[in-house]
Order: sequence, then structure tokens, then C-alpha cells
Amino acid sequence: MSEKIEINTFEELRNLELFELIVKIFNEAQKNGDLTFKEAINFEIIQDKESEIEYEIKIVEGLSKRPNNRASEPGSKEYNISNEKIKDIQKNNPFLKPEPELTIIDSIFNKYRLILNKFPNTKYHFLLVTKEFEKQDSLLKPIELQIIHTILENLNNNKNNKIINNNGEEVKYFSFFNSGPESGYSQFHKHIQFMMLPNNFHIYQEDVIRGVKYFIPKEIIQERRPLLYSNASFKHFILKLKNDSIDEEDKKDSLAILYMYLIKRVLNIFKEYQEDGNGDNKNTQISYNFLMMSDWMMIIPRRSAKFENIWQNSLGFMGLFCVKDEELKDKVLKVGFSKILQECGFPMEKDEKDIVYNEYGY
Ligand code: AMP
Repeated sequence: MSEKIEINTFEELRNLELFELIVKIFNEAQKNGDLTFKEAINFEIIQDKESEIEYEIKIVEGLSKRPNNRASEPGSKEYNISNEKIKDIQKNNPFLKPEPELTIIDSIFNKYRLILNKFPNTKYHFLLVTKEFEKQDSLLKPIELQIIHTILENLNNNKNNKIINNNGEEVKYFSFFNSGPESGYSQFHKHIQFMMLPNNFHIYQEDVIRGVKYFIPKEIIQERRPLLYSNASFKHFILKLKNDSIDEEDKKDSLAILYMYLIKRVLNIFKEYQEDGNGDNKNTQISYNFLMMSDWMMIIPRRSAKFENIWQNSLGFMGLFCVKDEELKDKVLKVGFSKILQECGFPMEKDEKDIVYNEYGY
């Protein structure tokens, strides 16, 4: 087993040879049967005609083996988590005492761990988890945003140490956080995930932020409202990240301001949704998917964890559809990516860019 690694400064986290470590532990765990992974060979890349978003769809065997350890079932009208329920969750909580064979970093600032996903969607899929139990429905803390971003920078922006796949192409990581009962999560202990994009995969977020300068959002100024990809069928908000922070404190502050602004947008959408007569208890708790890469962050409010029997978490909104079998794959293709994402999220409106939430909002 590998020796324990402890990280106590951002400099250490930035300079660590993280990808080498992930590869080493992944290969070892796979060889010893400590994780369930089989490279999907039957994936398809499809350009959606309506939205021009690129989608990948593939069958991931591990999906049907994933345990479920949630506080409530999606669609439930009650969102009242008793202490009993929380205690119950701890009995099968895989992140409280993670398997040493899957542990990448044993301690980050004494509060977090990096562990491999036991049922990964793709090779080298890993998680940042809190050491102590915290609810998945709690907000991301500024320090967590800073850790996520530093990990992404370590993996994506390291000039001397780019991640190159077997075809000689450069590969990038993105991170995601599913939060709230309708966000599509399966575990209730706080965790943020990191996954590699498929080879040569085009993401629409890059088109959206191209040529845009960093700005702090402000509702009343049109040019300072969050960015969006207007062909998408689902409500979402994208912000460009600051790339010239003067120090760690400055970086942390700007990440926190941007994230809180996106959360405010989600709160307003749920408020409006309830005012429109959809206010059963199910929706008093906000749900959203949060995605981040080195140069942007994005939020997608969620009203439902699934459309019929098609579950979604953050991945669909990144263009990545992982399904458990051929039957579900056929169904996704028949229903269509845009329709599924629109039903799981909130439909994008024609005048979405002009919607302002300051009058009666948060
Ligand atoms: P989510 O479904 O978004 O809540 O993500 C939870 C992730 O945890 C899933 O992708 C699971 O594959 C993963 N997982 C479940 N059990 C374990 C475990 N024992 N160790 C590591 N990862 C796990």
C-alpha cells in the first residue's frame, strides 16, 4: 500500500505530481479488484441537431453496482431529515472511512481526502470528500472552491506535465458537485467529483467564455449578467473565472463571490417556481448541479432527478450520458438529449438573457 500523503498548503497541492499518483493508485486498485471498471467500447459521439451541443453516450457497467445512500428519495414531497435518518446513513457511508486501497491523499488541511471512485464512469475518476460527515446539501465553502480550483490547475494547467492519452492528445479534467434532493446524487456525505473529458470532446462552455473578460456579476447591468449558451434547452448560468488573482486570498474571494451569485440565481428560480403554484414541499429545498473547469464555473437548477426512468446528475449537462444498459441507451436516443435535460432542469426561456431578479428576488 502507498504511504500516506498529507497536504497542508496550497503550494504543496499545486506542486504535487497528482496525475501520476492517481494513475498509480488506480492501476493498482484495478489490478487487485478494489474498483469496478471496464473501459466502454461502445460509446457514440452525437452532435444534437437542435442545440448543436456535442454529446457522448455510453454504457457503464459499474452504474448498476453503485450503492445508494440518500437521505430522501427523489420526488418525495417531504424533505425532513431526522437525526435518526442521518445516523442510519452513517452505517453505510463509504466516505467516512474510505478504503485505504482507494485513497489518493489522506489529508488536505486535515479536513478533506482525495479518493478514487470505486465505480468510476471513466478511468481516473476521483472524489474530494470531507473527513467528517457533512451533508451533500450544504453549500460549498470558499476553501472548498479554492481546493477544487487548485486541483484543476494542477491537472490541466501544468505546462511541464500535460496529461497525454494513448493517442498523444492532451486531456482535461472538469469537476462537478450534485447538491439537493433532485440533483441526481447517490451519496449524502459531502463529495465533489473530478473526471476527464473524452478525447477531442467539444464543450459548449468554451464557446460561451471565449473572448470574455472576467467580471463580477451585477443584475442591473446587462453586460454583467451571467453568460449562457442560448441554444441550450435548460436554464443555466456560466461565469468566467479570474485568471490573474494577486494571491490565494484574492482567488478564494473571487471564487466565493461568483459561486454565491450563481446560488442566488438558483434561489430566485425556485422562489418563482413556487410562486407559480409549483410549491409543494419537494421544491422548498433547492437542487442544482455545479460544474467547474480552470477558467469557468456553471450552475444548473434542477427540478427533477430523473425524466421517467432516465436519471441525470451534472454529467448530462456537460454533454456526457452514461447509462446502465442498451435498453436505456435506446430510450435516451429516442427521447432526445435536449428534452431529458429540459425536464430534469428548468426550460430555458426565449428572453432568458433579459431576465432580471433584483426586484422581488434575493
Ligand atoms: P453521486 O452519485 O453523485 O452522489 O456520487 C457518488 C459517487 O460515489 C458515485 O459515483 C459512486 O460510484 C461513488 N462511490 C460509491 N461507493 C464508493 C466507495 N466505497 N468508494 C469510493 N467511491 C464510491
